[in-house]
Amino acid sequence: MRQNGPMPDEATLTLDARAVWHPYTQMLTAAPPLAIARGSGAWLIAEDGRRYLDAISSWWVTLHGHAEPRIAAAIGRQAAELEQVIFAGCAHRPAALLAERLRSRLPRGLERIFFSDNGSTAVEVAIKLALQYWHNLGQPQRQKIVTLEHAYHGDTFAAMSASAESHFTAPFAAWRLPVERAHAAYCYRCPAGLKREHCALECLSRLETLLAATGEDVAAVLVEPLLQGAGGMIVHPVEFLQGVKRLCDRQGVLLIADEVLTGFGRTGAMFACELAGVAPDLLCLSKGLTGGFLPMAVTAASAKIYDAFLSRDRRKTFFHGHSYTANPLGCAAALASLDIFDSEPVFERIARIAAVHAERLPALAAHPRAGDARQIGTMAALELAEGEGDYLAGIGPRLQAFYLERGILLRPLGGVIYVLPPYCITPEELHRVWDAIAESLERVA
Ligand code: PMP
Repeated sequence: MRQNGPMPDEATLTLDARAVWHPYTQMLTAAPPLAIARGSGAWLIAEDGRRYLDAISSWWVTLHGHAEPRIAAAIGRQAAELEQVIFAGCAHRPAALLAERLRSRLPRGLERIFFSDNGSTAVEVAIKLALQYWHNLGQPQRQKIVTLEHAYHGDTFAAMSASAESHFTAPFAAWRLPVERAHAAYCYRCPAGLKREHCALECLSRLETLLAATGEDVAAVLVEPLLQGAGGMIVHPVEFLQGVKRLCDRQGVLLIADEVLTGFGRTGAMFACELAGVAPDLLCLSKGLTGGFLPMAVTAASAKIYDAFLSRDRRKTFFHGHSYTANPLGCAAALASLDIFDSEPVFERIARIAAVHAERLPALAAHPRAGDARQIGTMAALELAEGEGDYLAGIGPRLQAFYLERGILLRPLGGVIYVLPPYCITPEELHRVWDAIAESLERVA
């Protein structure tokens, strides 16, 4: 067999290894990746000894801290017991326990837990369950999925199609699945040209019209509840989500809540839907599910959905399963993370983060370069007027480099600077992050 050349000496290997293809990275122009050796609490420690405060929870996954000892130990114990088993036809205690514990905390009616591997697959599963639900009920004409402008639901094909058109999706335009698009409640760039103080959520009218005209062909409406993440950290009024739910109910359409980002306390409640008192038919979780330790996801379904798959007709089966479905190590990590929620003052930590955000944000919002400032729970964002809503705005990488020089890991989404720290961050550490952001407004052109 022809080979690619000799293996480099392990002792001298640099971590920007030639054989690695990093995601979301322009290889030719990007700075070399940070070579991270260890993590501890809110800190990442590089191979050269430098320390970085992880103010974005490593792509929004780390909840209680890096290398959190209780979760690490739980994974170790589980690995020595049962590392993996096929989940079609086999069951195991960590999955059964996790499903029960999630069910007891999820919004009303979400009673069945379907496991998968990551946020994108949680969304794929939700879309497929919604479509097959109607198929099994003898209404196969319900094929349409409605999603929102500025949405981001993942990088696989259905999740990408449900996401807003962007630089990310342009090369795949011909392969995007058809979805219907409704307005998001992006108050800073209001789709109806209104101000929140004087509006009656006119942004809901597009969804209302759409469902009134074609509601009987719609399978589900898919939303990121209260906080649209990768689309620009856009915070919606709770009344918007309540309005979406009302419109879905009126037309008998399913509601899918993508809580991949918002789940597990990010918005100040365990799940964002709780803040609006909304119970969706399907709810997607990943990211913080395992405390940020292992890739795992869940799509929770209402009894109504599950019952549509209960049949002696094998064609009504949900034929979807990944090799690592309900991996016991992931389940053990998730259970240990829930134990931390139950035994430590996690929601006090969350409230402390929210309080520091609320203290620092107003002064920055008044800065001449600021366009908008928004916050929900542990997420706070400052949208620069100059970014013009473009992810590829050049200001993003310049800001990121500035923060790294100060030992802070932040990744602005174009001109949207946001902070989303692990819950263990101290107020002093969080103030450091805000100090760097304040300084960047003066110093980064
Ligand atoms: N949904 C939302 C709301 C997300 O924020 C993300 C990830 N940023 C995803 C889905 C996709 O998750 P993953 O990257 O784990 O596939």
